[in-house]
Amino acid sequence: MAEAAPAGTNDPASAFQANQERAAPLLKRLNADGIGHLIDGEIVPSSSGDVFETHSPIDNTVLAQVSRGTIEDIDRAAQAAKRAFPAWRDMPAPARRKLLHRVADAIEARADDIAVLECIDTGQAHRFMAKAAIRAAENFRFFADKCTEARDGLNTPSDEHWNVSTRVPIGPVGVITPWNTPFMLSTWKIAPALAAGCTVVHKPAEWSPVTADLLSQLCRQAGLPDGVLNTVHGFGEEAGKTLTEHPAIKAIAFVGETATGAAIMAQGAPTLKRVHFELGGKNPVIVFDDADLDRALDAVVFMIYSLNGERCTSSSRLLIQQSIADTFIDRLAARVRALKVGHPLDPATEIGPLIHQRHLDKVCSYFDIARQDGATIAVGGARHHGPGGGHYVQPTLVTGARSDMQVAQEEVFGPFLTVIPFRDEADAIRIANDVRYGLAGYVWTADIGRALRVADALEAGMIWLNSENVRHLPTPFGGMKQSGIGRDGGDYSFEFYMETKHVSLARGTHKIQRLGAV
Ligand code: NAD
Repeated sequence: MAEAAPAGTNDPASAFQANQERAAPLLKRLNADGIGHLIDGEIVPSSSGDVFETHSPIDNTVLAQVSRGTIEDIDRAAQAAKRAFPAWRDMPAPARRKLLHRVADAIEARADDIAVLECIDTGQAHRFMAKAAIRAAENFRFFADKCTEARDGLNTPSDEHWNVSTRVPIGPVGVITPWNTPFMLSTWKIAPALAAGCTVVHKPAEWSPVTADLLSQLCRQAGLPDGVLNTVHGFGEEAGKTLTEHPAIKAIAFVGETATGAAIMAQGAPTLKRVHFELGGKNPVIVFDDADLDRALDAVVFMIYSLNGERCTSSSRLLIQQSIADTFIDRLAARVRALKVGHPLDPATEIGPLIHQRHLDKVCSYFDIARQDGATIAVGGARHHGPGGGHYVQPTLVTGARSDMQVAQEEVFGPFLTVIPFRDEADAIRIANDVRYGLAGYVWTADIGRALRVADALEAGMIWLNSENVRHLPTPFGGMKQSGIGRDGGDYSFEFYMETKHVSLARGTHKIQRLGAV
C-alpha cells in the first residue's frame, strides 16, 4: 500500500493552506506599515502626505496605503541618484559584483514571501510566481557576473594610432515598469543598470506596488549604498511623467503599453532622453501540418493561458494550417475548457483573477467585439465567478477569425486566443506580419528549411522554432515595429545603460599639419 504524502508537501490542499498561512502575517504588516518611497536610503512618505490604496484582485480588499509620488518626490529621488552616481560608477567592478550577489541572496532568502505577495497583489497563479523570485535573483546574479566586463571595448588600430573604445555608465536612469510579473520584470531592468554603474530611480506600476517595495527593502538590507536605487510609487501621468522629464535622468528604460511609450518619447524629447522600450505584442504562433502536434498544442496553450495571458510575449494569435485546423482546434478547445481558474494561492490554479476591474472590463469588451466582427467564441466568453468574487474571467478561445478583425489586431492582454487558419507558407507569413506589433513569433514545423525561411521572413524581434518562449539571459530580448526600441539581455543591456567612448592613442609617428609656422 502506498504511503500517504507528508502533510504540506505534495498535497495541494495543504500547500494552499501553507501559502495562505505564509501570506497572513505579511499582509497584516503591509496593512499596518503601508508603502513608502525609498529615497536616498530612507523609507519616506510622499512630500504631500498623499496616499493611494492598492487592492487585491482576488477580493478587492485594501492591501496597503501607498505613498503617492509627487514632482518633489521624483526630484528628491533624481537628485539622490545624481549624488550617488560618481561613487557607484567608480566602485571597482568586483565590489559592485559582490553587492549585486548579496541582493540576489536576499531575494532568494525571501523567495516564498515574494511569491505569495505577488499572487495576492497581481492575481497571478502561484505555480508561476513560485519561480518568479528565483528568476529575479538569477537576473541579479547574471548581471553581477557581467560587472567586470561592462567597460570592455575594442582596439581597432590604424597605421598611426591605437583606437580604443571603452564604455562608461550613462548616469542616473529612470526605470518604469508595468504590473504583469512586476517583481521579475523590475529586476530585469534594474540589475543591468546597476551592473553597468548607473544609479536608478524606479517608478513601479500603481496597480502592483507591493513587491517593488519589498525589492527596495531587500536592496537596502543587502547594503546597496544610499541613493543607488530609489523607488518612488505613484501614478504614470504624475510621478512617471516627471521622471521622464527630469534633467538629471539620462535615460528611461520603460516596459508597458505602446501608447505610453509614445507619450514617454515626447515627454523626454526636450531633455534628449535615451529610451529603451519594451511594449505591446500580438504575437503569432504558426502551426504547420507536419509539426509535432502534441508538443505544439502544449506550447500554444501555455503561451497564452499561463500568467493569465497578461504577458507581452504571449502567442495571442494561433495561425493554423487549414488541413489540420478542425482536429487541432477540437483538441485545443478541450484543453481550454479544462483549464483551472481559481484562487492564485491554490497550487492547482492555472488562471487567477486579472489585475484590476478596468483591465477585466477591457478583456471582457473583446467578447462582444469578437461577435460583432463575425468570429465565433468557441470556449469561454464571460466572467468567471471565482473564490473571493474578484476579477476572474473564463479562458476564451475565438475561432473563425480573419486577420483584419480587431481580435486579430489588438492586444487583449488576457487569457484570450484568436485562431486564424492559413493555406500555405506564404499565407502564414503574410498574416503573421499583418499587425503593427513585432515582438515575438513561434513556428512549429518538422521542415527545418521552412522553419528558417519563416524565421527570416517574420517581422519580430524574437523567434522560437518548435519551442515556447524559453528565456536565456545572454540573448537579445526586445521587439520591432511598435513593440519596442532596443534590446535587453547579455551585453545588449550595456549598450543602453552605457556610453561608448573612443580614445585614440598616437604612436607618435604621424605627421601633424603645421599651421602658422614660419
Ligand atoms: P502602462 O503603459 O499602462 O503602464 C506602465 C508603466 O508606465 C506604469 O508604471 C505607469 O504608471 C507608467 N506610465 C503611464 N503613463 C505614463 C506617462 N505618461 N509617463 C511615464 N510613465 C507612465 O502598461 P501596463 O498596463 O502597466 O502594462 C501592460 C503593457 O505592458 C502591455 O501592453 C504589455 O504588452 C506591455 N509589456 C511589454 C513587455 C515587453 O517586454 N515588450 C513586457 C511586459 C509588459
